[in-house]
Amino acid sequence: MTLIEREPTPRHKVCGEFLSGEALEDLSALGIDVTSLGAVPIHKVRLAAARRAAEAPLPFPAASLSRKTLDTALIAEAIAAGVHVQRGRSVQALNRTPGNTWQATLDDGANVEAPTVFLATGKHDLRGHPRPQDPQRWVAFKMYFRLAPAQAAELARASELMLFPGGYGGIQPVEDGIANLCWVVQQRYFARAGNRWESFLAKMQQDCPHLAMRLAGAEPLLQKPIAITHIPYGFIRRTTEDGLYCIGDQAAVIPSFTGDGISIALHTARCAADAYLAAEPAPLFQARLRSALLLQMRLAEFAADGLNNSLARAVLPFCLRVWPGVMRVTATLTRISRRPAAAAHAVAG
Ligand SMILES: Cc1cc2nc3c(=O)[nH]c(=O)nc-3n(C[C@H](O)[C@H](O)[C@H](O)COP(=O)(O)OP(=O)(O)OC[C@H]3O[C@@H](n4cnc5c(N)ncnc54)[C@H](O)[C@@H]3O)c2cc1C
Repeated sequence: MTLIEREPTPRHKVCGEFLSGEALEDLSALGIDVTSLGAVPIHKVRLAAARRAAEAPLPFPAASLSRKTLDTALIAEAIAAGVHVQRGRSVQALNRTPGNTWQATLDDGANVEAPTVFLATGKHDLRGHPRPQDPQRWVAFKMYFRLAPAQAAELARASELMLFPGGYGGIQPVEDGIANLCWVVQQRYFARAGNRWESFLAKMQQDCPHLAMRLAGAEPLLQKPIAITHIPYGFIRRTTEDGLYCIGDQAAVIPSFTGDGISIALHTARCAADAYLAAEPAPLFQARLRSALLLQMRLAEFAADGLNNSLARAVLPFCLRVWPGVMRVTATLTRISRRPAAAAHAVAG
């Protein structure tokens, strides 16, 4: 098996870096011990909107770990399992040949042919295999900070979700005593801040004083946030072609606040590997996967719409105070249910 990864070395990805219970189970089954990699256990979730904040214990085990560290471990695991990993080579096109195999054309013009491909290019679409438009035109950012000691102590073991007009953000500790701040915003709201991340970050802190408190005295650790656009939230792939199994964000894109994308990537990869080994045709696999994901996806979208609603922003933290269980219920409902579960980027088998 060959895995083609365009980045020569693991690098930062736009991601909140929250690992749900399901992701932890799948990683453990792959032999990856996140604790030894420095993952921070997460026990509670806090919701902050306007001037209110409320917290609830998480109803499942969770942790956080930077994608750089996690992706390094996953690639090492693939190599140890005998996968031929080609790094720093990008797939430019993926086409069916007259002989009914798949042909990946790489950036240097070389071709790799295989009867089966696992398409796992994540947030990036391959020419000829697009996902739908993203009508809200979401823009997502990630930035690392070293928080002031008192704020780092407050944040310890918590994942905080912050609501503001046009989007939401999350802050949580990751390894080495630093904090990950990740946020998504609809383009039209970002445009109102002159399309400048500094102005938008200042506006977020105005709208959500909880964030301003967290970032007081914080040291930014990247020169500027990393960013991506085109996030077709709610997408679940309907169909595919023979021999082409789509996994991860190429199979489904769940709203980010659920912190379930990594778990879905691991699960859909496992499901695809099982389907391949059982000689289940890719179109049947993709349809079955869609049915398995549909309910949770729609619930997560429904909850995301609520977070983006100004009335909900005003009342949610208050509801949490009087009924702290509401967040536990939401967290459980929007979690993707266990499915027969495994893995990869543009991988040819
Ligand atoms: C703002 C935001 C916050 C999020 N927060 C969380 C969170 O806290 N927890 C969580 O579980 N999920 C979160 N997610 C979702 C999560 O990041 C994704 O669901 C997950 O990374 C999907 O994994 P993947 O393997 O499909 O894609 P990716 O992780 O994007 O990996 C795709 C890989 O393919 C490679 N690649 C791309 N194109 C090519 C090509 N042409 N040729 C070769 N290689 C290629 C890339 O370099 C990359 O390494 C978040 C998403 C966003 C947008």
